[in-house]
Amino acid sequence: MNRPDARQAMDALADAHAALLDAGQRTPCQGWPDGSPWLSEDAEERVIAAGLCTSCPLFTACDGAAVAHRVTFGVWAGRDRTRGLKAKE
Ligand code: SF4
Repeated sequence: MNRPDARQAMDALADAHAALLDAGQRTPCQGWPDGSPWLSEDAEERVIAAGLCTSCPLFTACDGAAVAHRVTFGVWAGRDRTRGLKAKE
């Protein structure tokens, strides 16, 4: 179960995403078809994704949600949070 502060942080991020969409904008990680590099199992693709985060207007909210949830996979706010993923063979 998530801690209350984690829920608040994720709600804040979701609200920020909705406000951005209402303004006709989107984050760099939105709108990708299958194979988003933010969630790729390929570490090199995640490096590219992390670089794209630098222009994101939701960077701070995204980082807050990632920290609050102690995420262990994917790129959030320019950081690859992936832990314990085995290298591809
Ligand atoms: S900072 Fe977060 S919301 Fe923005 S592009 Fe990166 S992962 Fe997506």
